[in-house]
Amino acid sequence: MGGALLAGTAVPGQPELDVLKRQIRENERIWAGFRNIELGMIGAQSLRDLVSVAARDLPRTFPRVDAVTLACFDPEYELTRLLAPGELDGRSGGGPDDIDPTTAFVNLTQDALRTLFPASLKPRLGPCDRELQSLLFPGYGRPLGSVALAPLMLRDQLIGCLNQASLDRTHFSPGTATDLLEHLAAVTAMCVDNAVNHERLRLSGLMDPLTGVANRRFFERRLSEEIERWFRRQEPLVYMLVDIDHFKQVNDRHGHKVGDRVLQQVAELLGRDLRGADLLARYGGEEFMMLLPNTGGPDGVRIADRLCRAVAGHRFEGGEAPLAVTVSIGVACLDRSSEFAGQSPAAWLFERADAALYEAKQSGRNRVVADRTETRDPSDTEKYSAD
Ligand code: GH3
Ligand code: MG
Ligand code: MG
Repeated sequence: MGGALLAGTAVPGQPELDVLKRQIRENERIWAGFRNIELGMIGAQSLRDLVSVAARDLPRTFPRVDAVTLACFDPEYELTRLLAPGELDGRSGGGPDDIDPTTAFVNLTQDALRTLFPASLKPRLGPCDRELQSLLFPGYGRPLGSVALAPLMLRDQLIGCLNQASLDRTHFSPGTATDLLEHLAAVTAMCVDNAVNHERLRLSGLMDPLTGVANRRFFERRLSEEIERWFRRQEPLVYMLVDIDHFKQVNDRHGHKVGDRVLQQVAELLGRDLRGADLLARYGGEEFMMLLPNTGGPDGVRIADRLCRAVAGHRFEGGEAPLAVTVSIGVACLDRSSEFAGQSPAAWLFERADAALYEAKQSGRNRVVADRTETRDPSDTEKYSAD
């Protein structure tokens, strides 16, 4: 074979070592190809991009792959709608220009999906008959010879399959090991889930369109949920305000467009290492907020300090030359010792973090200041400089 799969079949009559060597070389080539495609899919900004990347890059990387489709169980036509072009929903551009993602997507019933993988939820390789072609590659004009269908599993559910086809009848043959293809399918399933969640958030009006992170409305909603949880469980909750330093100068010197690019990159840096339950939101302008549930004050300060250094050490693209930008961060923490003195916990948290941020600005910027709530003395703050 010689396609986008792990070669694992021995050829009778050939010395074993030669076969092994060929297999290793072939696997390395496939692995490198898959890795690039996976990176492209992980970086996709929308379902359109994701489908386009798979449909364009698999045949480009493996020339004997002639057609690629993504089939999903999509009973409410949600994915189908997300893929449709030309809606005024603020979608971030189309896919790569030479692929129409709507033709590379197939909506399957659950029964059709199950019958594709009757024996096991492992990739299926073999000949392609007319019926299979019209089900999975309806837009492809020439008769296809063989297919590799990889089931997409998400939280133990079969959600779809990633389908490759070749005009060559022998290209995808049963009995070939499929470890690499299984890896590609696992990444694809995660990326589909991610892209759909991302688009749901965007369409719900709870996402900031410039940076792609949650907006203030979403933040406030999550904050009240987290505060409720805090009353029940008393697990500490860290609240951070992040403000870009002298951002007006970035706009004044380099223009608003460069400013926008910097905002996007700051959001990306701040969101890079978040855990699943953490939240980053754009509060407005050049200010971001972060919520870290089940995190104590000292850990929150350590995380803030790391973020502050990461921004200061980063060189931002978008201008004529790479730009340096810094942030100041105010950290507050809701824990057992917090006393609100008649305030709502949300207002109390904001006030504490805002006062700490103010302090960070006053004392030189590019630093983290933590509100020491446990001392109950608002003038007692802990300073951390990222200088
Ligand atoms: P400081 O260190 O005290 O925070 O100074 P600063 O210049 O960052 O603060 P200031 O509040 O004076 O200015 C914030 C600037 O952020 C002014 C505004 O033009 C800019 N800004 C707000 N929203 C956006 C945006 O969406 N895009 C761009 N490019 N700039 C924005
Ligand atoms: Mg500001
Ligand atoms: Mg600022």
